[in-house]
Amino acid sequence: MSSTLLRLGLWTLIIVLGLYVVHETYIEEHWAEMIPMPMLQQALVVSVILVIAGIVLKILGAGAKAVSKNRCKVCRTPIPSGAMFCRAHLRNILHEEDDKTHMTRIRNR
Ligand SMILES: [Zn+2]
Repeated sequence: MSSTLLRLGLWTLIIVLGLYVVHETYIEEHWAEMIPMPMLQQALVVSVILVIAGIVLKILGAGAKAVSKNRCKVCRTPIPSGAMFCRAHLRNILHEEDDKTHMTRIRNR
């Protein structure tokens, strides 16, 4: 989404600047008057807004990604995405599960 906005804004900017250069270069030619300057200025403003919006969204997106970073459910240590616990707590929990499942057998012995 953000990169689409950024690309759209940059392309509009390039086209507007290109048209502007053409207009200034061939100002003597009759057909150059066909390029409406007020429209070019409006397009320039829109493209600048698009680029700024794209950059802001990109920054916000990066911030959101950093905030939603996966953390251990017990000690809040950052962990790789998809995991629920850090290595130490994962081992603890697996150990507890192991004890639970083997409890009856151990007691009966
Ligand atoms: Zn932990």
